[in-house]
Amino acid sequence: MSKNLKVLAVDDDLINLKLLKSMLMKNEDVAEVIEARNGADAITVLKGRHDIDMILLDIIMPVMGGLEMLQIVRADENLKQLPIIVLTTDETKKTEALELGANGFLMKPVRAADVANKIATLAL
Ligand SMILES: [Mg+2]
Repeated sequence: MSKNLKVLAVDDDLINLKLLKSMLMKNEDVAEVIEARNGADAITVLKGRHDIDMILLDIIMPVMGGLEMLQIVRADENLKQLPIIVLTTDETKKTEALELGANGFLMKPVRAADVANKIATLAL
């Protein structure tokens, strides 16, 4: 059965973002994909709507990177429970991301099956 998830996808690379979006839209658990281009942009989205179920988050981005955004979300009473999956090409960031409260970690380029598995695990 579909879970009708609304997923916020955050990446500064427009090609990655479009790829991620099309991957997510093919996932039967996902109802809507909201795009943001950096952490600050994503925080603005989260302040404006309160129906986001999950975040897929790039690390290296201008204005505000993923690890900084992760800390802000985890420090916010209203947002701190939101599941966040960090996406990166740099595996050395994994420990730091998990310590800062990420719920999952995927290496780029991400595969649709891996994204689907993580979503299914976190959206129980
Ligand atoms: Mg990036």
